[in-house]
Amino acid sequence: MSFQIAIDGPAGAGKSTVARAVSEELGFIYVDTGAMYRAMALYFLNRHLNTDSEDTINASLDDACIALRIIDGNQHVFLNGRDVSARIRTEEVGMIASKTSKYPENRRKMVAMQQEIARSQNVVMDGRDIGTVVLPDAQLKIYLTASVQVRAERRYQELVQRGENPDLAEIEQDIAARDDQDMHRAVAPLRQAEDAILVDSSAMTVPEVVRKIVGLARERMA
Ligand code: C5P
Repeated sequence: MSFQIAIDGPAGAGKSTVARAVSEELGFIYVDTGAMYRAMALYFLNRHLNTDSEDTINASLDDACIALRIIDGNQHVFLNGRDVSARIRTEEVGMIASKTSKYPENRRKMVAMQQEIARSQNVVMDGRDIGTVVLPDAQLKIYLTASVQVRAERRYQELVQRGENPDLAEIEQDIAARDDQDMHRAVAPLRQAEDAILVDSSAMTVPEVVRKIVGLARERMA
């Protein structure tokens, strides 16, 4: 049986950075499930679909083929054969992903793919519902969070480094709105699984968080 590490938490808590580093250290596959919801969102956006209409979204799900591939150690996400890994990283796509991830049919499709990937290989998977729905039997579950202010500040610095000119207050509002949307949806809302370990990274560096999770994983693998 595979060893599964589930890392859930709100937007901007550093899940993907931490999950990637943990997977490298342990030699596990890293699966960024948010990228899958983002790729679907990009499809809805490209097709100008009405994302307020659940029927419209449901009817188009089968037309979008999402695939994950590891290239040079990095996860790439493909939408109908095209590598969209860079194009899904905008605030707009993130908001549409959050909005459309509340539809059960969309989630069913993503969850089935994620479970299939984790069935036969050791994985570190990050998302919102990994410990609660996708991998309820994961040997290690982490709920990684940080204050809204800290998450907004990190995102701000990221955008500045990319040469953009972001507005901190706007980022903070977007993060709070996305938290609200993700935590209050009817299906698979973001919440800490009962058996998940809470890690608040507000006052921790990335290497500190990684060391903590790798330490816990090694204890449980022994
Ligand atoms: O993690 P990321 O910001 O890339 O995720 C984008 C959106 O996808 C989230 O705001 C959330 O609504 C949705 N998502 C989800 N379940 C997951 C991963 C992401 O609902 N396992």
